[in-house]
Amino acid sequence: MKSEESVVALFSKKIKCAHCGGNFKSKMQRGKRIYLCSRYDARNGSCNKRVALFEQFLIDVINKRYEIKWGRVLDEDEMRDKVVEINVEEKNVFRIRLADFEEDIIYSENKYVF
Ligand SMILES: [Zn+2]
Repeated sequence: MKSEESVVALFSKKIKCAHCGGNFKSKMQRGKRIYLCSRYDARNGSCNKRVALFEQFLIDVINKRYEIKWGRVLDEDEMRDKVVEINVEEKNVFRIRLADFEEDIIYSENKYVF
């Protein structure tokens, strides 16, 4: 039987911190799922970078790529399957590698590749 965590968190173990190489963990914040570096701790963590990413935001960005290329969005199982890795530098600076495309989604301050 799956734990509740694995049922609801779509991107567990796929989101990597560009600062320390750690995995992001998911947690609920006011009813919304967010991801944070698992090594981040304001006082004594080994990562000093606090980046909080909303799961829904990532879903929207990924679906934008699939809408452009395939003309449809992904369902939850597909979303879980097709994301290879998400590498995060800042809240608005990250890249997403997908199983279906050679080109990553690039999200940054002055360049976007959907
Ligand atoms: Zn980190």
